Amino acid sequence: MSRPTEDTYRHKGLRKKLVQGIQAKGISDDRVLDALLEVPRHFFLDSAFDEVAYEDRAFPIGEGQTISQPYTVAYQTQLLEVLPFMKVLEIGTGSAYQAVILAEMGAQVYTIERQKKLFDANKKFDFLKKYPSIKFFYGDGYEGLPTYAPFDRVLITAAAPETPPKLIEQLKPASPEGGPGGMMVLPLGAGEIQQMRRITKLENGAIKEEVFDNFSFVPMVGGKES
Ligand code: SAH
Repeated sequence: MSRPTEDTYRHKGLRKKLVQGIQAKGISDDRVLDALLEVPRHFFLDSAFDEVAYEDRAFPIGEGQTISQPYTVAYQTQLLEVLPFMKVLEIGTGSAYQAVILAEMGAQVYTIERQKKLFDANKKFDFLKKYPSIKFFYGDGYEGLPTYAPFDRVLITAAAPETPPKLIEQLKPASPEGGPGGMMVLPLGAGEIQQMRRITKLENGAIKEEVFDNFSFVPMVGGKES
């Protein structure tokens, strides 16, 4: 893969237009919009995509996977309500674009990828050295990262046929004073179309589940791929 390394005025201009479009589609959290403005999306794609990197579309990143559509990234990130220093677990590193958006918002990011080739590609991606707050793991997202739990937030960026129970376990519990616990955002559904859900951990193991718009993600697959 040959990556572009220059962020020109032209790229910046296209990015600004993209972010304005995303805002017009209903994303209102300024911290999310600022992060999208900050991060050069074309760095995460092969130079062959340079002309189209700022279109609001998903693109292939190899191994049958995609970098999510920017609107989808913004939508999930807004629902996640990330605050600085929160511990965020991401399932499905892919291009690492979403992980960098979370890091730009001040999160401590733990991200898991099941495809060895995509995991390895990120080790050679020099731009990511700017983000020591992201920790990369090769593994099965269904298992989460019990050693690093609990997490304030969990974000699944592949279509989950059901809510992974171990990830619910690894969400921060509600506080004894009644404050809500951790939140997870995931596209839920076994078919082509999934419903965005937000799950909040409440007291005594109770769960609040909210339903949002429909999306279409690549599937979440169990086990690792070498
Ligand atoms: N967040 C990514 C989106 C990548 S697409 C980005 O910003 O580019 C979803 C990714 O989830 C793919 O790379 C796929 O390999 C990965 N994936 C699917 N099932 C997984 C699992 N069980 N554990 C970890 N990663 C998984």
